[in-house]
Amino acid sequence: MPVHKITCPECGQPMWSDSKRCLQCFLTKHHPRRGLIGEIVDAQGYVLIKMSGHHLARRDGYVRVHRLAMEKKLGRRLTREEVVHHIDGDKRNNREDNLALFPNQGEHMETHHQTMVNSF
Ligand SMILES: [Zn+2]
Ligand SMILES: [Zn+2]
Repeated sequence: MPVHKITCPECGQPMWSDSKRCLQCFLTKHHPRRGLIGEIVDAQGYVLIKMSGHHLARRDGYVRVHRLAMEKKLGRRLTREEVVHHIDGDKRNNREDNLALFPNQGEHMETHHQTMVNSF
């Protein structure tokens, strides 16, 4: 299991051992529209943070930040079916107020469809 004994170099809070800063600093100190220097974006445009061994981490240890942020907002783990949607359509804007939770991909896609219809 991963160790939480190291502290964030920016705020001193306990953090995941192989990320550069804690999630809180990651979300607040990097303005999404200015880009995330030194952080990674995957092929789908989602921002990734390294947290090897986290329950949301992929095999290479990277976690999609929007799912982490939603778990933090909810105070519980997301299920595999749940989808986190970016309200403004900007996958780099992972502030809590820009994230919406859908119980499954079907309902999520319905929202995208409605948004498209309404914009015409
Ligand atoms: Zn921090
Ligand atoms: Zn969406």
